[in-house]
Amino acid sequence: MILEFTSKGIYCPQGDFYIDPISAVETAVITHGHSDHARGGHKRYIATPETIAIMKFRLSKKINADPLEYRKQINIKDVIVSLHPAGHVLGSAQVRIEYGGEVAVVTGDYKVEYDNVSEPFELVKCNTFVTECTFGLPLFNWQPQEQVFDEINEWWKKNSEQGINSVLNCYSLGKAQRILKNIDPSIGPIVCHDTIEDHNKIHEQFGIKLPKRTDASNHDNKALILTPTSSSKTEWFKQFGDHRLGNASGWMMFDGFHRGVHKGFVLSDHCDWKALNWVIKNTGADLIYLMHGYTKEYSNYLNGQGVFTKVVEELGKTISENYAESSEYAE
Ligand SMILES: [Zn+2]
Ligand SMILES: [Zn+2]
Repeated sequence: MILEFTSKGIYCPQGDFYIDPISAVETAVITHGHSDHARGGHKRYIATPETIAIMKFRLSKKINADPLEYRKQINIKDVIVSLHPAGHVLGSAQVRIEYGGEVAVVTGDYKVEYDNVSEPFELVKCNTFVTECTFGLPLFNWQPQEQVFDEINEWWKKNSEQGINSVLNCYSLGKAQRILKNIDPSIGPIVCHDTIEDHNKIHEQFGIKLPKRTDASNHDNKALILTPTSSSKTEWFKQFGDHRLGNASGWMMFDGFHRGVHKGFVLSDHCDWKALNWVIKNTGADLIYLMHGYTKEYSNYLNGQGVFTKVVEELGKTISENYAESSEYAE
């Protein structure tokens, strides 16, 4: 076994390193900068240069980190390790590990649709594939992003014509820059919360061009304001006065989120149902580990398709094994 699921995280015993570990370890390979993957306290970090820049900002300038460019192979003890674009956020990577002819890929978070910001998702062939399935139900079915950005533009334009600011809640790393990169900046001024602005600057350092943002005091009641949800009770937020509130997330697929003042835009940085199925089929893997989200439901579905799965309920806890029941599994 080249992967073990321990209470500290996903572990490769032959290389003595962890992937996105939960508690402090000696060597941590990090898939991307989101806080449920990149945590503080590890002795040594290995990640893409972009993820390292993000971690230096979010965790500490002092972390001991070795950059690893996409597709470049290194050895950690006798294990060959490389990082491959996950298409999730800037710098996001799938971790490919190879030992004794066995190849495993740990995805972290990923999406297949190109967002114009992060390096496009790369399909990596493997024997064992460890995937999240946050949106592993058929109801999660994303529209092409052009359509979602048309909706956002239209909403912003209508509000600005009525002299009302449009406040859009979004994650500061990834979602905010994806929105900035893809909306129509000619509609009006754009204001970003400081936390988002800090992440914008990291993107710009890596050559990603984003439209001009203006100071909050210039909002002019026609602005698009990007802010993390956590800012809603702050003084900063109050200055925008009467506003319309929107939210951009995959969870907006659920009708309930659309009610009231919330305008829901279904925009996710994870795979939808079809994309998950496509990736799993095309990796060629004969063992799929499922983590995060609708693991049980998705596992049942895959088993019905003749795919062998193991559900990682919680790291360090039992892994339930599921054998494919169908005998007529076509390759
Ligand atoms: Zn993430
Ligand atoms: Zn995550």
